[in-house]
Amino acid sequence: MTFVCTTCGKQHELDDLSFGAHAPLQWDALTEAERKRSLLGNEQCEVDDSEGRHFYVCACLEIPVREAKRAFVELEPTDHPLAVDQRLGIEEDRLQAIVTKLLHAAPA
Ligand SMILES: [Zn+2]
Repeated sequence: MTFVCTTCGKQHELDDLSFGAHAPLQWDALTEAERKRSLLGNEQCEVDDSEGRHFYVCACLEIPVREAKRAFVELEPTDHPLAVDQRLGIEEDRLQAIVTKLLHAAPA
């Protein structure tokens, strides 16, 4: 599936895209001492901070475009926009807006 980007005018291939984070947000907030007690791997992370020890696993969440096949991993049925999109499918316009924003986001 492709779409013409409203930001750069180019055609983007959605099937080749995935977005993710290098580490949980908590990783960046660790002190140097906490970071030495913690572990960051390619697919898992253990954060040992003042609140205790927390475990994270990298997962690939598929968000189906409406009328496509169901996702393999399902989120809890909450009202969070990501959970709603996964449960009901995402509108193509919303998907394109998110992809455009992520592709053209200013570097942090
Ligand atoms: Zn673009």
